[in-house]
Amino acid sequence: MSHRRQRVAIYGSSLVVLGLSIVSLITLLPKPAKVKATQANTKQTAISKSWLAASFPVENFQAYTSGFGYRRSATGGNNWEFHSGLDIAAPEGSYIRSWWTGTVIKVGDHNACGTHIVIQSGEWQHTYCHMQGEVETAYGRRYLVDRAGGIQIAEGQQIPGGYRIGRVGMTGRTTGPHLHWGLKYSNNYIDPAAVLQAMFSQQQLARGAASPSNPKQSAVTIEESKNVRDSGD
Ligand SMILES: [Zn+2]
Repeated sequence: MSHRRQRVAIYGSSLVVLGLSIVSLITLLPKPAKVKATQANTKQTAISKSWLAASFPVENFQAYTSGFGYRRSATGGNNWEFHSGLDIAAPEGSYIRSWWTGTVIKVGDHNACGTHIVIQSGEWQHTYCHMQGEVETAYGRRYLVDRAGGIQIAEGQQIPGGYRIGRVGMTGRTTGPHLHWGLKYSNNYIDPAAVLQAMFSQQQLARGAASPSNPKQSAVTIEESKNVRDSGD
C-alpha cells in the first residue's frame, strides 16, 4: 500500500465521522429556534395584558417539578419529547383554581391528561390535567364531577378568575399528584412560567403603589450596602 493511498483512506473515514456527528447533533436538537420565536412574540403580548385579578392555579403549592419545553423522555432512552406545560406539585386533593375568568370549552377524562378541563379567556386557552373525578353527561350536557370535593363544572359554564374548578389528583399519565398546567395563546403553546412571572410582577407593582413604606425600606437597604462596600476599602 503506497503512502498516498493510506492518507486518502484516513481522510475518507474522518469525513464519515464528521458526517455522523452532524446528523446526531441535528436529531438531538429538534427545532428549538421555531419554538423560541413563537415564545418571544407571545411573551410580549402576555406582558401587555393586565392580570391583576388573575390567580395562581393551585392551592398548597409545593414545587415546580417539570418545566415547559423539550426534555428527555420520561420513559428513558435518548428520546426527546415536548412538555407542553408546567408541572406544579401539590398534595392530592388540593383545590385547583381557574387562572383567569373565562368559559369552559371542554371537559375530558380519557387521555394522558387524565380528568381535565380547558378554559378559554379571549385568545388564551388554559388546560388543567390529572384532576380528581370524571366526566358525566346529564340532559346532553357534559360535566366534570368530583363529588367528594364538591365540584361540578359544565361545558359552556362561565368561570371567574380564582374560582375552584377541581382538585389535584393522579388521573392520566402521572407518577405523583400534581397539576399539569398548559397555556396557549392563539393556538401556540406558551411557557406558563413566563406568564406567572409577568402576572406576579404586575400584582407586586400594584401592591407596591398602594403602600408608601416600600421605597423607604429599599433606600435603607441601599445605604447599608454602600457602607459595607466602603468599609472594605
Ligand atoms: Zn406535565
